[in-house]
Parts: sequence; structure tokens; C-alpha cells
Amino acid sequence: MTTESTATETTRAWVDVDLGALVRNGAALQRYAGVPLVPMIKADAYGLGAVACARALERLDPHGFGVATVREVEELRAAGIERRIYVFSPLLPGDFAAARAARAIPTLGDPAAIAAWGQSGGGLWHLAIETGMHRAGLRWDAMADVADLVRANPPEGAFTHFHSAERNDGSWQAQEARFRDALAALPVKPTLLHAQNSGGIVRQTPSPWSFVRPGVFLYGVGAGDGAALTPEPVAHVRARVLELHDLQDGDTVSYMATWRSVGARRVATLGIGYADGYRRALGNRGPALLHGARTTVAGVVTMDMTMIDVTDVPCRTNDVVTLIGRDGTELITVEEVAIVADFMSPYEVLTGLRQRLPRLHRESVA
Ligand SMILES: *Cc1c(COP(=O)(O)O)cnc(C)c1O
Repeated sequence: MTTESTATETTRAWVDVDLGALVRNGAALQRYAGVPLVPMIKADAYGLGAVACARALERLDPHGFGVATVREVEELRAAGIERRIYVFSPLLPGDFAAARAARAIPTLGDPAAIAAWGQSGGGLWHLAIETGMHRAGLRWDAMADVADLVRANPPEGAFTHFHSAERNDGSWQAQEARFRDALAALPVKPTLLHAQNSGGIVRQTPSPWSFVRPGVFLYGVGAGDGAALTPEPVAHVRARVLELHDLQDGDTVSYMATWRSVGARRVATLGIGYADGYRRALGNRGPALLHGARTTVAGVVTMDMTMIDVTDVPCRTNDVVTLIGRDGTELITVEEVAIVADFMSPYEVLTGLRQRLPRLHRESVA
């Protein structure tokens, strides 16, 4: 199943996506939870390619998939994905016709939107119950507001979403208690109940719910301190060495001349920059792997090129450098890069990788 890559795709910089690791991460979560998965493949599978990731995850026989927009459902349908697809952002009535045409299952919490869904033709929907995040859904203590609507057009499912399960701070248990109170207050009990994201899944075995909704763990980002499981890396960001520069004492590197050679040093210019999603905040700090050895970004990251210090590692033009992921026995995790990049969210590092980097979907990545 390895996708054949063209010379152009691996010339400058790209992302190797390890589909075998993706599926093993999903299988580990499914074993631990003991219920089916609804992999979250919104935002193009956190930047790694929704269609390819969905096709690979089909091997786990998931209950369905989760996305954020109707457009994302349409893309998956056009690629032949036939399973259920839930949309986990509130739909406006203007989206309803397109959602039905794409066989999307909306998640609704606003009474007016629930009424409009019923009046415009109805169909499967899940009730979003808000238990502490105040982002989307109906407050856990306001179920009376929808009692009549729920009797008239019962939701097939109901769910909530945890705001900090990965922090081990007791918050998900409090949210779960509110969720249970809300379910008890509904006049009709929905058949499908769900609550857990990655951080929630790795802290409860077996799951008490109908299915689980993992996202970031599938893509190789761990679920915080105290997580029972650790994911395998999935995304490997590579860039080739375009040129080598031998510097003399006092020579400077990149814009603003923030890096200055002490004695004779050697830097390699990589074909990747902030326009590829390799953050400018990684200047003078970002870790890099060359032939399995660690080195560091030298100077400011520029739009299309980034320099690294290769004084201590043999390096030639065309060599492949790893900026996220594995090379030999060394690993740069997404979390490490996020911390070095001024404490970004690892979610933002992944979804921030730009389209100029081709995603190469491989069954395994050495
Ligand atoms: C994104 C999302 C998830 C997955 O969250 P992770 O932290 O990436 O596992 C689950 N449920 C909902 C409603 C989401 O929006």
C-alpha cells in the first residue's frame, strides 16, 4: 500500500505519514476502551490527510468518523467513504440541505437549530450537551428547554466534550457527572452516548460509553501525564539539504544576523521555512536530526529556507534532515517541537503544516 512518490515530492521537503502507526495507535485505544472508535479526522486529519487516514482506519471497523464541517463530509463522500460521519461543530440552518445530501449526522445543542432541523425534514442527529467548556451545546442543567423538541424529534445520541482530560485535574470526572445528570433529565434516553477524546480514553478502561472519539493520539501526540498508553509517532517532517556553507569566525547566519560563528563552523541550508508551517519561533532553537544525530537550527527561520549547524555531523547536499519524527534511534516528538516553539499547542504544530509540504502516505516509515 506504500504510495509511490515522485522525485518532485521528495525533492525539497515533505511529511511522511506512517499509516501503519496510525492504525496501531487506533487499535491500542480500541483495546483499552473496549468500544468502537469514531476517529476524529477534522481539519484534514489534523493536517495529515483525511482521505488516506480514513481509508487506513477503516481496517479497525470504526463506528464512523468525526469532522467539523459539511465540506469535510463532502470530501470524504467524494472519495468513497461510506461510513457514518458526524459533524462536531454546530450547523446553521443554511448548512442543513448540504448536510442531508452528504448523509452527515449533525450535532445540535441550540433549541432553535434543533427545531429547524426537525422542520426542514429531520433525520439522525445527536444532542450536544455542554458541561464546562461553554463552546457548543446545551447547558447540562437546561434539558427542560428541549424536552418538547426531544419528544417530537428524539436524538439518536447525546454527548459531551472534555476540556482538560489530559491534565489529570479531576475536571473530566466533574464534566462526566454533569453529563449523567443531563441524561437523567431528558424525557427520552438516546441510544448512543459518547464523551471521551484522547485524554479521556486513556484514563478509563473499559469505556462506559457507546464509542470513543480519539483525535490527536491517533496522530502520534501523547495524552498527557498519567496516560495509560503512549502513541507511536505518525508524522515525520523531512527536508533536504540544498547547500552547505563553511563559515569563518564572526560570520553570521540568516536575517537579523542572530547567529554568529565562533571559530570555523558549517551550516546546511534546508528547503523548508515558515511558509511550510515550520515556525519562525524555532529559530536558533529547533531540534533537527541528521543521519540519526541531533543538531539545532542556526539563525532565524526564513520563509522558504532554514539553516542548521552541521559542524559535528558529516553532511552532503541532498541529505535528508528530520525536523519532526524519527531518524534512526532518535525521535523529535510533536510535543517537543511545540514546547520549543514558545509553548505552542501540539495540535497547532500539526494542523499548521502547510499545503506546500506533500503528505506521503506510507505503510511504514523506517
Ligand atoms: C476534536 C474533538 C475530539 C478529539 O479530541 P482529541 O483531544 O484530539 O482526542 C473529540 N471530540 C470532539 C467533539 C472534538 O471536537
